[in-house]
Amino acid sequence: MEGGPLIPVDRKGISLKVLKAKDRVIFAEADYEFVDILLSFLTLPIGTVVRLVGPDSTSIGPLTSMYNSVSSLESGHLQTDYCKEMLLNPRNASETECSKLKINVYPQEPAKLYTCGCFDFEWSESGCGTDRWFSTFKDRECPSECRMSALAKVEEDKAIKGGGGVFVKDVAARFMITDDLHVMAASTAACILLFQMLGINDGNEIEESHLVFDTQEVIRLLKFALLSKSPLTEAILYVHCSSKKESVKFQLKGTPQPDKNASASNIKNMTLKLLVSKSKKTVLYAEAEVDVVDFLFSFLTYPLGSIIRLLGKKSGFGCVDNLYKSAEDLSTGGYLKSQECTKMLVCPKLAPFHNVENQLLQIEEASYPMYVSDSSQGLWVVTRSPEMNFFAAVMDPKSPTGVVDAGKGYMKGPATFMILNDLTVSPLSPVKSVALLNQMNVPINDVVECVVTIGHDEALNLLNASLISKTVLSDVFNQEEPYPEVMLKV
Ligand SMILES: [Zn+2]
Repeated sequence: MEGGPLIPVDRKGISLKVLKAKDRVIFAEADYEFVDILLSFLTLPIGTVVRLVGPDSTSIGPLTSMYNSVSSLESGHLQTDYCKEMLLNPRNASETECSKLKINVYPQEPAKLYTCGCFDFEWSESGCGTDRWFSTFKDRECPSECRMSALAKVEEDKAIKGGGGVFVKDVAARFMITDDLHVMAASTAACILLFQMLGINDGNEIEESHLVFDTQEVIRLLKFALLSKSPLTEAILYVHCSSKKESVKFQLKGTPQPDKNASASNIKNMTLKLLVSKSKKTVLYAEAEVDVVDFLFSFLTYPLGSIIRLLGKKSGFGCVDNLYKSAEDLSTGGYLKSQECTKMLVCPKLAPFHNVENQLLQIEEASYPMYVSDSSQGLWVVTRSPEMNFFAAVMDPKSPTGVVDAGKGYMKGPATFMILNDLTVSPLSPVKSVALLNQMNVPINDVVECVVTIGHDEALNLLNASLISKTVLSDVFNQEEPYPEVMLKV
């Protein structure tokens, strides 16, 4: 095998027709298979996106900083050895569907479940108890301390099965994709409107070309979908478009809609200690306990589509808002395969076990099937059908015992962490804080501490700022000048 280990080898390229004029893509024309690939971006967890775009690049700012912070964290700070892998390589709740795409950029195979051999019908009481244990990580120890290495078969959801496309129906229709990623069924009217908007009257200006996209080009398109307002032009024509100063200014948001389900009683506000320069009136860094760090790191597990939903389609994150709206419109237009497919794109779930205990933002978590049966070949089959005799207990990889309610977040507490404005997170070290203040040229007597609360709105603002700002803490907590006195209480 050649090529990088992270990038799946695509089965074949996918063709695309492009109309361009004046160094700009006017639109691309493609079939349902390409639209499927484009829409699948909404299912990708942010950690995967950072990994694909390149963790060494600073292009998606704070998310990259957080990714690298997790990467350099010592394992003693995490609840289990699996936590780091879950954050750096988060599972996609729609990974089975994505594995059927013509080009799938999600770099992992669908999750496998492993089980152990210490349970059988003859001596069930002495084995693992009455449940059969499963693990998504091979060779994890079961509660009776034997290694779980036998592969089980996970039965596929019947609702999603069926031929044709993955999310989009395999219609003969052609689709138009604008430079800013509005996807629509092709029509002459839409075409004319686009020409008018771009001020193109002369047909001689227009050039047509055929392209074949491979995996690398799809990843390139993903990257510009996040970073640019003209992703097709940047990805296809290699024209740099950001000279127009299109960068989005972060603005504080309130709750976009009344939060009907947010009343979950176990969700508590969190506190963050800000270290502020009195004279400069800016946030220097923050100190936080594991609950805040867990919450921030969990952003890496959020699917792109769930973020756009939480931010009310106003994230300002590249052109992802447009892609999200296109998924809604294509669903309304009857182009998506089913309601389940629509939900996977506009309301994607976190992968099983990826949620943290104190999740201030409401994202549903997917679950593994709960029942198990023995097939004729001796292969254990995990299924959603309750007709089978006994329960499948899938171990929570975040939990040291594997038992679900013992698993809280990814981080092991108590511990205090230092969070920089760009969301670089590291264990608090007094020596490092002094060095940092020196580096920032802030005298120690100029520093005040103030405690702020992170509730739902602050959580939402932190999420939004992590996508588009480079100074997340200042933007979210330091909007007013002068710094509000009420917050200056230690
Ligand atoms: Zn066992």
